[in-house]
Amino acid sequence: MTDSSSPSINVLLANPRGFCAGVVRAIEIVERALDLYGAPVYVRHEIVHNRHVVDRLRGKGAIFVDELDEIPPDAPTIFSAHGVPRSVQEAAVARGLPVLDATCPLVTKVHVQGRRYAKAGRTLVLIGHAGHAEVIGTMGQVDAPIHLVSTADDVAALPLATDTPIAYITQTTLSVDDTRGVIAALNQRFDDVQGPDVADICYATQNRQTAVRDLARQSDLLIVVGARNSSNSSRLREIGDEMGVPSYLVDDGDGVDPTWFDGVATVGITAGASAPDELIESVIATIASVRPVSVKQLDGVTEDIEFTLPPQLRNLTRAAAE
Ligand code: SF4
Repeated sequence: MTDSSSPSINVLLANPRGFCAGVVRAIEIVERALDLYGAPVYVRHEIVHNRHVVDRLRGKGAIFVDELDEIPPDAPTIFSAHGVPRSVQEAAVARGLPVLDATCPLVTKVHVQGRRYAKAGRTLVLIGHAGHAEVIGTMGQVDAPIHLVSTADDVAALPLATDTPIAYITQTTLSVDDTRGVIAALNQRFDDVQGPDVADICYATQNRQTAVRDLARQSDLLIVVGARNSSNSSRLREIGDEMGVPSYLVDDGDGVDPTWFDGVATVGITAGASAPDELIESVIATIASVRPVSVKQLDGVTEDIEFTLPPQLRNLTRAAAE
């Protein structure tokens, strides 16, 4: 119960935080598919890395599977926002599954860049984290060998001659700041390196990381709302830690430990790109159950990016309306 005699906690909210346009689009694809086809629709992997989002869609009739062979013939099939290897697209075509692809357009853009560099004869280096769904998808979207690196040490260990023409592409959930050191190492080690403008890779990742730095500067403690398997959420927590602010990653208000707030005057809260707003509210509610809170949102950039839905879905929606 709140002790009203205790000093209140200032809660600062990062801006921007939470859902990005790619996540909004992916969720809308599943919801519209449920409306148009009726339940069940099948989703390969978590549509976005957030248990609450997945559970809510499951409650509406989405079935989440690991692989295509778990999907019955002719069943509507959705690929997650992280993208899939070409082999998965081809297997879906071979089985005649009606597919709606929720791959974020910014991830697709990385696939296109990779193919373009490979076609130009460059050896590809992907800056990203091994095992992440997006990295697996990207590596399987280019018909050429890709060297995966995540640190400058990985660059030093690449089995390539210094005059190899290199092109790098990056996982979208790494920001300009995350990739800077690796790109510098590539430029140092190789004579001829090309790559996209990394500031252009994903506006949402960059904006959330800039906002969390601003937030951490003003906070005694930082809470990031997001899933453990969400790469961009983990990175937001790491940034807080790097800035010397005790930082925690929680799924929701239940993950908040009331003892964290002893001697704390200001708590900063942000959320990864796949975490819905109501989870932030549940975190604030938990804090408010310990001490009175006053909540303020920081100033930040306004995001007005929207991605169009896949053409098949637009056509189906139009046909259903006629
Ligand atoms: Fe797309 Fe960026 Fe959101 Fe990933 S974080 S889904 S790349 S907008």
